[in-house]
Parts: sequence; C-alpha cells; structure tokens
Amino acid sequence: MPTVTPAPSISPNAEPNPQAGQLIVFTGPSGVGKGTLVKELLKRNSELCLSVSATTRSPRPGEVHGQHYWFLERAEFAAQVEQGKFLEWAEYAGNCYGTLSTTVDEQVAQGRTVILEIELVGARAIKAVLPHAKRIFILPPSLAELERRLRDRATDNEEAITKRLDHAQIEIAAASEFDFQIVNDDLETALAEIEAVITGN
Ligand code: 5GP
Repeated sequence: MPTVTPAPSISPNAEPNPQAGQLIVFTGPSGVGKGTLVKELLKRNSELCLSVSATTRSPRPGEVHGQHYWFLERAEFAAQVEQGKFLEWAEYAGNCYGTLSTTVDEQVAQGRTVILEIELVGARAIKAVLPHAKRIFILPPSLAELERRLRDRATDNEEAITKRLDHAQIEIAAASEFDFQIVNDDLETALAEIEAVITGN
C-alpha cells in the first residue's frame, strides 16, 4: 500500500470560521459503542452529519454501500490513495479505512458539523492537518466490559476479536492525546457530555 501525505482542501491551520461547520473526530476502541453514540447524536441533532468512510473490509450483515461505508476493493482503495482523495487513511486489523476529502469539504462548506468516526492513526493525522477539529476519545468503563461488548456484537470471529482487543489497549494508552475523554458507561451521560463538547458548553 503506498503512503501519501494527506492533502486537505479545507484550510489547514487556518483560524476557525464561525460561519463554517466544525469537524468532530470520534476515536475509541472497536466495540466501545462509538457507532451507537454517533447514531443517537445524529438522530437528536439535525445540524450534524456523518462522513461516510471508504474501507476494504467486507460488509457486515445489514451494512449498506454508501451508507455505512463505501466498500472498495484493495486496488481501488490504493488508487484513491494515489490520487490524494483521502483526508486521512489507515490500516486497521488487516483492512484499510479512509476519510474522503470531498465528503468532508462539501458538508463543512454547507456549515454542517461533520462527524468522523475513525481510529487512532487517522485521528493523529487529522490533528496534524486540521488542528481546530475537536477530537474526542471514547473510553470503555473497563477492558472486561469492552470484551463483553465485542462478544455480544457477534460480528467478528475469535481471531478478529483478539486483534481488536490487542489494538484496544494501544488505543486506550493514547487517550490523553485527545482534547476530550468521555467514558461510555451510561449512554445518556456520555451523550450529554458529547453534546456539551460540540456546543462548546
Ligand atoms: P469497523 O471495521 O469496526 O467498522 O471499524 C474499525 C475501525 O476503523 C474503527 O475504529 C473505526 O472507527 C475505524 N474507521 C472507520 N472509518 C475510518 C476512516 O475513515 N479512517 C480511519 N482512520 N479509521 C476509520
């Protein structure tokens, strides 16, 4: 897989424009409940929108191309990397994931607040290219609870669960790099804390 320097077209390092939408980055270990939190936030706040990422992972049952992810073949993903189409991208548990610049640009230009739900390497890249993005790390109440949630989800085989748990420990160790850390124990409490971050309260 070739490497690229992300080439964002939304004013890197510029002062934030109050007229334009903001970028909110959610990171946290797989299984921590980022998806549920994001789904609830989108339901409750019409000004928010989610950036649909591209991935080389196979769709899980119920996942729709263009809605949950853009599911791409590896060669197609690599071509888009070569063409500089990604604001950031990373490899995670054997698959590639990336945020498409155009998706984010269009929505931010419309003044919408765009949510990225991405892993650690991508979140670090965003800090480098768009330092005004608010980056939130979602923590599980404990590693044991995270493992329970991953098993309950029943979407991954044993090998994938082990990979995700190993990776979770690396990610959790980096939580302090983020602007905000929120523990997803009680859903309503976590949502209220996230909404306070988004509104700046
Ligand atoms: P999953 O396979 O469970 O949908 O996602 C695996 C991990 O990839 C999650 O931590 C998710 O946040 C992350 N991810 C999803 N989309 C992107 C993306 O566009 N860029 C990066 N860097 N990570 C992503």
